Amino acid sequence: MEEKLWDAAVVGAGPAGMTAALYCARAGFSTLMLEKLSPGGQMATTNEIENYPGFPGVTDGFELAERMRAQAESFGVQTENAEVLALRTGGEEKVLVTKKSEIRARSVILAPGAAPRELGLPNEAALRGKGVSYCATCDGAFYRKKTVAVIGGGDTAAADAVFLSGLCEKVYLVHRRDKLRASGGYTKKLQKENVETVWDSVVEEILENEKGRVAGVLLRNVKTGETRALAVSGVFIAVGNIPATDFAKGAVPLDEAGYFTAGEDTETGVPGVFAAGDCRRKPLRQIVTAAADGAVAAYAAERYLRGE
Ligand SMILES: Cc1cc2nc3c(=O)[nH]c(=O)nc-3n(C[C@H](O)[C@H](O)[C@H](O)COP(=O)(O)OP(=O)(O)OC[C@H]3O[C@@H](n4cnc5c(N)ncnc54)[C@H](O)[C@@H]3O)c2cc1C
Repeated sequence: MEEKLWDAAVVGAGPAGMTAALYCARAGFSTLMLEKLSPGGQMATTNEIENYPGFPGVTDGFELAERMRAQAESFGVQTENAEVLALRTGGEEKVLVTKKSEIRARSVILAPGAAPRELGLPNEAALRGKGVSYCATCDGAFYRKKTVAVIGGGDTAAADAVFLSGLCEKVYLVHRRDKLRASGGYTKKLQKENVETVWDSVVEEILENEKGRVAGVLLRNVKTGETRALAVSGVFIAVGNIPATDFAKGAVPLDEAGYFTAGEDTETGVPGVFAAGDCRRKPLRQIVTAAADGAVAAYAAERYLRGE
């Protein structure tokens, strides 16, 4: 028997995928959402969300994810636990290859997200949410009037340091080279009394206090080999993100960093294939922007399915 032809298949059940699926199903399209882990994406890994509109106070990301999943499924979205390994986009019918089957769909919304690049230090994962953060916009407010370190030298690191300098007592910007990779505009913005750049340095160790929270960082100067400890209560690691787009290589255009080149309209350049959320090139990667992308992608898919 021939497998069902879905109107819309959504890859990834983070906020982008769940919103896209909700909008597609609510518009009357048969919608399958594929998720390799459990629904929620990155937001399900934090219990401290303060900036999602409509949820005042501190919200648990797992709970927010459960609400989004239930809402999408209430409109008829079918969720399947499967990893998409490859995508074929040749004709009217798109094919998503998983370990168990080949799924056919008239339109595809790609929302596989991205993961922050880690430093690879032994206690880094254990201290995540206990002083280690990969997102200043998300967590900066928790470090008001405290001393923090930002690790990295690109635009994100520089922007994080500038943002945190407005909240924190002191910000160290730690970079492994002797000049920033960040665009020139940041040099002036970083000239603030409470920002100190530490050049030629890498994090050797994240120091912990007796409560199991970050107490500081031990830095090593890559030129002299000297070490120096900084007492900080937060370490913001901004050394890049890894988009989960490998499965779409060759089928959908990617930029040099591996993000889908789709812009705000979520159009990937492949008819009937759209990209939403952290997986695409964009200036701000947040739950609210992922959800907004999901709605835009569903709208674009609806228009494609109706032949408009
Ligand atoms: C620790 C942490 C705290 C954060 N705090 C906040 C915050 O307070 N406020 C805020 O606005 N943002 C926060 N963010 C950022 C926010 O969570 C992300 O911007 C948002 O989740 C991106 O949504 P997304 O749907 O694009 O991708 P993701 O959330 O990354 O979801 C993608 C989903 O796709 C799945 N997937 C990937 N590849 C495949 C595949 N091949 N097949 C099937 N499934 C696949 C993944 O398993 C994942 O579930 C935080 C992020 C982290 C990591």
